[in-house]
Amino acid sequence: MSDFKHKIDFGSARFLRLPLVIKKNFLKLENFRKETNMPAINHPDNRSTIALLIINNREFWGANKATAGITDKMKDDLKALLKDENSRSAHSVVLTHAEVDAIVAAHYKNMNADSAEMYVDRKLCGFCAGKDFNAGSLRRLLPLLSLQILKVYTPDENGNITEVTLKTDRTFVSHIFL
Ligand SMILES: [Zn+2]
Repeated sequence: MSDFKHKIDFGSARFLRLPLVIKKNFLKLENFRKETNMPAINHPDNRSTIALLIINNREFWGANKATAGITDKMKDDLKALLKDENSRSAHSVVLTHAEVDAIVAAHYKNMNADSAEMYVDRKLCGFCAGKDFNAGSLRRLLPLLSLQILKVYTPDENGNITEVTLKTDRTFVSHIFL
């Protein structure tokens, strides 16, 4: 993506009003970039997305990258999970995205929980989120961690943080502008 528009406005009154835990986790994402020598989220050279998954009080990090480190078996499992009800496969690009990377990292550590939270420092892409978050690939990965609910904190195109609640079952999704 050559255009850079999903900045997070850390100095805005709106950001500062967010609950402390949410602010803290977005600052952790920035810190992770610093520690791994990646450009800051708002840097013009930034082309990456970082995801932090918190499950069972443990942190799992994901970055968008090629599928290096994902075994063929895992790739097949992911592809199967990502199929929609008409057996159409999800775009394989999703396998390289930060959100999926974090979920796979937790899966490798045998994490299971009813609910978890994820912080993503760029707006979810169309493949991960789908048209309305229900149709996206991210929701379909919840069974990998036995999740009923995944709360995702992510900026919208204006840089404002939103809370998206994904549920395994398609009957419920909420999207709140914080
Ligand atoms: Zn994506």
